[in-house]
Amino acid sequence: MDQILKEIQALALPLIGQGKVADYIPALAKVSAKQFGIAIYSNKGELFTIGDATTNFSIQSISKVFSLTLSMKHFGAGMWDKVGREPSGQPFNSLVQLEYEAGVPRNPFINAGALVVSDMNQSRFVSPHYAMKTFIRRLSGNQEVQSDHKVANSEYEFRSRNAAMAYLMKSFDNFDNDVEEVLRSYFSNCAIRMSCVDLAKAFSFLANKGYCRHSDEQVLTEQETKQVNALMATSGLYDEAGNFAYRVGLPGKSGVGGGIVAIVPDQFSVCVWSPELNKAGNSLAGMAALETLSQKIGWSVF
Ligand code: GLN
Repeated sequence: MDQILKEIQALALPLIGQGKVADYIPALAKVSAKQFGIAIYSNKGELFTIGDATTNFSIQSISKVFSLTLSMKHFGAGMWDKVGREPSGQPFNSLVQLEYEAGVPRNPFINAGALVVSDMNQSRFVSPHYAMKTFIRRLSGNQEVQSDHKVANSEYEFRSRNAAMAYLMKSFDNFDNDVEEVLRSYFSNCAIRMSCVDLAKAFSFLANKGYCRHSDEQVLTEQETKQVNALMATSGLYDEAGNFAYRVGLPGKSGVGGGIVAIVPDQFSVCVWSPELNKAGNSLAGMAALETLSQKIGWSVF
């Protein structure tokens, strides 16, 4: 595995310089582009890493999988009246479908869907961000996991688009709580900082039939685990989910911080990170690294 990781790093590093670090959140634009890391965690507890695998970065939309998992645990099938399970074929922050589809977002991984899920968690928890942080600390086995207040505040300051989605959904009666409060906890969740190692470990329950070995807990049922993986495979990379399925062939979830997590069911959870993004908002070098990795090892759910 170590040799394969070296080869992948050698292929991916020259791609740095071809993408663009997310700058629509000003506090994220300051991240140095020249970083690249991979962590692979096996269901047996083995860890393989290369590059900047222990450097913390902003998890951004990767947090949407944790929020969805929390809401599935607490609301079960009832939550699907408020959010769909179809790929959107639209950018992650698009507003257009929402108006046509009466304020019910296509899936929990586009921003509108994640906002509805955050709204549900707001109804369920006294402090939804605290609940989320505690959950992530347990899943990753890292008690130091924190949110970056500067990034969260920067997102809140430039919230117009996300706020527009939330208010539009409220106008369709698909949003229960105070919009500004939900935006605050949504941004605090997106601004959580973790490393590739933390994320590979925290996502391991999705490769392990819902079971997390560090916390020794059944996070989701086996069936729910399959469902989350199915949603990641169809919608985890927004309007590039089809391309990701074609190139990588695994359930995955990306974030504009440059992280991508992928699941090899029953075997491994993987996290790659490099801050520069392609046009769809997914890590450019990260996509290439995962493609080569899955091809070299023969990973694919298809
Ligand atoms: N916090 C970001 C936003 O709401 C998350 C987007 C992403 O990572 N794709 O715009």
